[in-house]
Amino acid sequence: MTAVQPLAGALVDRYGRIARDLRVSLTDKCNLRCTYCMPAEGLPWLAGPDLLTDAEVGRLLRVAVERLGVTEVRFTGGEPLIRRGLVDIVGAASALRPRPRLSLTTNGIGLDRLAPALRAAGLDRVNVSLDTLDADRFHRLTRRDRLGAVLAGLAGAAAAGLTPVKVNSVLMRGVNEDEAPALLRFALAHGYELRFIEQMPLDAQHGWDRSAMVTAEEILAALGTAFDLRPDPAERGAAPAETWLVDGGPARVGVIGTVTRPFCGDCDRTRLTADGQVRACLFATEETDLRGALRSGADDAELARRWQAAMWGKRAGHGIDDPTFLQPARPMSAIGG
Ligand code: SAM
Repeated sequence: MTAVQPLAGALVDRYGRIARDLRVSLTDKCNLRCTYCMPAEGLPWLAGPDLLTDAEVGRLLRVAVERLGVTEVRFTGGEPLIRRGLVDIVGAASALRPRPRLSLTTNGIGLDRLAPALRAAGLDRVNVSLDTLDADRFHRLTRRDRLGAVLAGLAGAAAAGLTPVKVNSVLMRGVNEDEAPALLRFALAHGYELRFIEQMPLDAQHGWDRSAMVTAEEILAALGTAFDLRPDPAERGAAPAETWLVDGGPARVGVIGTVTRPFCGDCDRTRLTADGQVRACLFATEETDLRGALRSGADDAELARRWQAAMWGKRAGHGIDDPTFLQPARPMSAIGG
């Protein structure tokens, strides 16, 4: 490591990447139990006093936007729709200047009811996770019989103007790998933008197996049997998804190949967990405690300095392919997906 210090006013790392996209987890709890994410009985949840309060989340968002150049805020979890103060937190974020773009990653349950209030509070758009269109499969995969609620949530988001509505799907071998074309047909029919995400080693059970995961290449091959896909000429920038035009466009489909096509060199993300820890990467094994600093009286300048120091140490890559790779101690649901 060099002795150079981070630039004032931005979340820069020593490889020159600048983080402008903040993922904020608002809770580690979820109302689904997706088999590839957490066990049937759930996890030891964070204790209430350990969670950032709505005001604390608001303060850290202000520091991120006003002092550190964050321009995109994505709320996630766990399931962010079950955070009681969500609408107020979104409202506080949308009052910041310069106003960040605001989005939410959700399983969609209850979104039909909440979408109008979220839109009114300033939410710009949503990503809804949906891995199957078959009700029985959905029940087995999520251990809850809620496909209808998710589909209603998607429709409610579109009706409320939370657009583009994006759909995130994870394909798993022997579970739903045959559904790639059907999911794309569904997304096209409803005007949703579909993104497939490669399964990552972030499950609480540590059951991920590189040799069993469905790769980006396999996903594209499956889609290619039913659709004409051409690389999207639009600039990718720091977007995690590579996109393709479907049947000549303008509709597109994306693949997030975190494992087999890593995009760490362009990563512009910083993460805040529901208990106030900054993470430089989903796969980081270190965290920087902002909650403790905040609760012991640190001013905004000090919080910004700590956040910058955390990002300065961001590794060049996630290292999944490195033989020394260690899965982070916290699962995806606790980090914020
Ligand atoms: N509850 C919200 C939802 O369902 O979108 C937000 C949190 S969830 C952890 C975010 C996304 O992570 C979902 O799309 C989910 O499918 C995905 N996910 C969870 N575990 C994963 C894993 N091991 N690999 C890839 N994606 C995963």
